[in-house]
Amino acid sequence: MIALLETLPPGVLLCFVAALGLVFGSFVTLASARIPQGDSIVHTRSRCPSCLHVLGFRDLLPLFSWLLQQGRCRYCKVKIHFRYPLIELIQMVLFLSCYFVAGISFEFIVLALLSVMLLILIVIDFEHKIIPDGLQIAMAIVGVVYHVMHSGIDIALVIGPLSGFASAMALRLLFSWWKEQEALGLGDVKFLAVAGLFLTPELIIPFLLMSGVIGIATAMVWQKVSGEKEFPFGPALAASLFLCVLLPEQYNEAYRQLISWLAE
Ligand SMILES: [Zn+2]
Repeated sequence: MIALLETLPPGVLLCFVAALGLVFGSFVTLASARIPQGDSIVHTRSRCPSCLHVLGFRDLLPLFSWLLQQGRCRYCKVKIHFRYPLIELIQMVLFLSCYFVAGISFEFIVLALLSVMLLILIVIDFEHKIIPDGLQIAMAIVGVVYHVMHSGIDIALVIGPLSGFASAMALRLLFSWWKEQEALGLGDVKFLAVAGLFLTPELIIPFLLMSGVIGIATAMVWQKVSGEKEFPFGPALAASLFLCVLLPEQYNEAYRQLISWLAE
């Protein structure tokens, strides 16, 4: 399959990756709505949440259905929120960035799968303030594949998750003792253990610090947009992990700049 795709002209391949991103983007919307309810993500037909009409092929074309129907349900004409096409567009951009970094390869499949899971995490955590265990397990499986692909089977497969878990747990205890409030939820702590599969142990501290900075930035925007005081930390961790895995050199450079700026 990969060999077959490699024979396609670059422009066609680019369109293929973009289209695949849009399709997975609509899967992200579906999965992030169904996983917190405990519904199956494969076996039930999609319905309009307002009139409950079963949606057909024409209604389910990512982005294009929304554009062609001018952002409304074809049956009851109720407005469909722009977040649906937005999630599809974001997933498309994520797939294209994986393609620019890894080309069409097994690495691309692993990175693209990770991006899908992280985007599902971001949507669910913003909406429900949880990171479901099933999603963590799926990411851990991708993490093991990623780790074995890059470093083979070694001791870091155990030490990575353990150091992620230990540093997150330490931070959680420190914050609850200092501020008497929960800064890192248990879902975030488990996610840090999963992230340890993608990161080498010495990257854990830079990762936490960079995530903190991304977290502060997103919290300020989120509180402006939503008016909510409570801010989930999972989206910042997810965005930080994706950047670190996709562009490790640039990520490290940004970390060094941050440290020298803090030291001044
Ligand atoms: Zn409808």
